[in-house]
Amino acid sequence: ESKRRTRNGRLAYTPALAQSQRDRLQFETQLRHAADNQEFHLVYQPQVDLGSGRLVGAEALIRWRSERLGEMRPDHFIAQAEGTGDIVRIGDWVLREACRQVAAWHDDGLGIVRVAVNVSYRQLLGSDLMASVRGLLREFDLPGDALELEFTERVLIEDAPETLGNFAALRALGVSLAIDDFGEGYSALNYLRRLPIQGLKLSPMFVSGVPDNQSDVAVCEAVAGIARSLRLALVAEGIENEAQRRFLLELGVPVGQGFLFAPGLAPADFAKRL
Ligand code: C2E
Ligand code: MG
Ligand code: MG
Ligand code: MG
Repeated sequence: ESKRRTRNGRLAYTPALAQSQRDRLQFETQLRHAADNQEFHLVYQPQVDLGSGRLVGAEALIRWRSERLGEMRPDHFIAQAEGTGDIVRIGDWVLREACRQVAAWHDDGLGIVRVAVNVSYRQLLGSDLMASVRGLLREFDLPGDALELEFTERVLIEDAPETLGNFAALRALGVSLAIDDFGEGYSALNYLRRLPIQGLKLSPMFVSGVPDNQSDVAVCEAVAGIARSLRLALVAEGIENEAQRRFLLELGVPVGQGFLFAPGLAPADFAKRL
């Protein structure tokens, strides 16, 4: 199998890109059936108050353990699933599983954990995202503010006519909406005004360079300034060391996540931290 190094130097598989047509077909077939074969699970990365270290929520991250292909990272199958449209069914599974888990923690007496779920722009097109979220909140008896949905800037680029209506309806349910990896792509500030967004997530692309790299520092300051003036919540991602935590805290960024605190955890390990 072909391998390449990720940013942090680990080996990762690149099935869809590097391998033959036949392998690619096999990859697509496995991906299509992964949900039915119960090959997906979610891990939960703690989001912490950068001052006190208190846990304030979690981000749910999908993992795929394929019977045939082994362990697969989302960066290597989400884009593929968006291309084939499979992401809509996968995304439905993710939302349901995250809601089920929050309800299970609640039943265990751990309170309502606020979970952020990544949602693909494709889930906003044509599919009735609002109706499925409303149905899940009802089914698992959860308040809307137990859920945050993260969208990448791709949602802004697509500028689908359904987006504004969907976002407004999700807000009416109490669900909060955030832009993931803010600044990496196409940051049209106009949309931050027009769409009912409550939060931004500062990309690890910029966090990784602080406090030494001056242009990364400048971008972090700019994003923190935008969040402050538009009264948006800000979560910094990819915090790996103490110097980064301190810099972001001094910048006024209230919440962060990253390997300094914890990677994505199995539900039982996450519960131990509550
Ligand atoms: P993301 O939503 O921006 O998630 C953050 C990614 O950064 C995660 O990678 C996480 O494991 C990683 N990370 C966390 N802390 C650190 C750190 O301190 N340093 C570094 N270098 N990385 C850190 P992961 O889980 O591989 O997910 C990659 C991307 O795949 C996610 O980026 C998200 O865009 C997408 N994704 C993950 N789960 C889902 C899902 O359920 N649905 C959709 N549509 N996309 C998902
Ligand atoms: Mg995310
Ligand atoms: Mg992100
Ligand atoms: Mg990302």
